[in-house]
Amino acid sequence: MLLKEKMICPNLERDKSGELCFGGVRLSPLAEKYGTPLYLYDEDRIRDRCRTYIGAVNKYFESARVLYASKAASFTRLYEIMREEGMGIDVVSIGEIYSARKAGFDLSGAYFHSNNKTDYDVEYAIDAGVGYFVVDNAEELYAIDRIASERGVSQKVLLRITPGIDPHTYAAVATGKVDSKFGSAIETGQALEITSLALSLSSVKLVGFHCHVGSQVFDADVYLKAARVMLDFVKDIFDRLDFLAEELDIGGGFGVRYVESQPEIDIDKSIMEVAAFMRAYARELGITLPTVLFEPGRSIVADAGLTLYTVGTVKRIPGYKSYVSVDGGMTDNPRYALYGSPYTILPVIESASESETVSVVGRCCESGDIIQENIPLPSSVSRGDLLACLTTGAYHYSMSSNYNKLPRPPVVMLAGGVDKLAIRRETPEDLCALEV
Ligand SMILES: *Cc1c(COP(=O)(O)O)cnc(C)c1O
Repeated sequence: MLLKEKMICPNLERDKSGELCFGGVRLSPLAEKYGTPLYLYDEDRIRDRCRTYIGAVNKYFESARVLYASKAASFTRLYEIMREEGMGIDVVSIGEIYSARKAGFDLSGAYFHSNNKTDYDVEYAIDAGVGYFVVDNAEELYAIDRIASERGVSQKVLLRITPGIDPHTYAAVATGKVDSKFGSAIETGQALEITSLALSLSSVKLVGFHCHVGSQVFDADVYLKAARVMLDFVKDIFDRLDFLAEELDIGGGFGVRYVESQPEIDIDKSIMEVAAFMRAYARELGITLPTVLFEPGRSIVADAGLTLYTVGTVKRIPGYKSYVSVDGGMTDNPRYALYGSPYTILPVIESASESETVSVVGRCCESGDIIQENIPLPSSVSRGDLLACLTTGAYHYSMSSNYNKLPRPPVVMLAGGVDKLAIRRETPEDLCALEV
């Protein structure tokens, strides 16, 4: 049987010669120019996703904002795009704050997350002018209050609340359940406690509440459930403490299509449904709907990314399985090793040969260094062929490592058919640069 191809994203196609094109650009000349492994981003697709989100929130809410959860991919060029598109951002570390600042991002529109901000993080972020802190727990709230007070400033904060919702996704990316390491749970009374505490401290200004139930979520109901729990909480706090939240952040997590069997989420429609529910439910509760924030990461950049590899060793173990090794691996894509994530992998040059079931593996000294198991590739696949692993724009470069002292691949942006280097390839010198 010939390989039946799955073009899971509209920015992919084959040209007349059968070569795979991404964002309208043929892939083999890029491999030639930059080498492999190579991360590519279709900038037009990223901008399109930002505009879909911003357009939808402006249409369906009276007041709402979209923050790009930059841990999905956090390099300077991306922050520039977010600035140009009018997106807010989430940051989770001093490194992300530094990069965003370098890109000229106005940090007064940045939200600082993480479940364990050190004193140094807090000092750095306040001094950098980060607009909002999303506070995970009481200990952190005291630290922010103390450091803000030392500097004579009032720091705006949102409190991260755990709504007690199971998003039905991978355990490692589920964050909304009561026993999560993130946030303060409503169910245990800790959410109420931390709210009273925030209102009593003089150098923090409570702006509202935040929740994020998880990532790679396909069930739209999850957001409606979270919105209901959070609005009930907003109302409860208003009744008990006479504090009405100005902002309610309902997190990110919209699922993305890695393989054909996964659905494609209609962002505009999902936001329309969430908005209709929240507006009606706030009315029912008799409260003004706070400004609603969304924090998409993956769904902004995932399918705008692709990784190009060159095939090396092809090993067939008769009666067992066949391995196709590529020149990257868990160092540039740890997601199969972490979550068993599915991927679509396509040959860059179309082949007329029969398809064969193979496992695509990396070159690290680790048996778990697998990009994908038991997928179809043409049986002609051999050393020197180019393979494209699709949907690698989110949580790939940002999760990459130098295990085995492998240099990280470069990142190249494609815009209007033109390629431009955003991050150069690491060299052996780079890998030793910090060794004193
Ligand atoms: C990771 C994260 C997001 C983004 O999740 P995606 O699945 O990439 O959309 C949003 N908010 C918080 C707090 C996060 O930790």
